[in-house]
Amino acid sequence: MPDLLTRLFRRRRDHGLTCRELVELVTDYLEDALSSAERARFESHLGACEDCATYVRQMRETLVVLGQLPGETVSARAEAQLRATFREWKAGSAPHS
Ligand SMILES: [Zn+2]
Repeated sequence: MPDLLTRLFRRRRDHGLTCRELVELVTDYLEDALSSAERARFESHLGACEDCATYVRQMRETLVVLGQLPGETVSARAEAQLRATFREWKAGSAPHS
């Protein structure tokens, strides 16, 4: 579906944030640690990119689950697990790099 890919690529470029950058920012976003400018860019990418919108929704749900576990290093462990989960998910379903 070249038309779809072209549209996704254009949208991503229009909004100034790549999917890779979004992945790097997602934990800060979910922890409310982004500046208002970063948050605005993040959310405009989410509005234009279904892949990332799905990813962030899954991340949020996973964080809720992990947040209920005991332990003081949940945050670092959760981040590692989520990144691994994302790599698998991305490898399995995403047509772009
Ligand atoms: Zn994206």
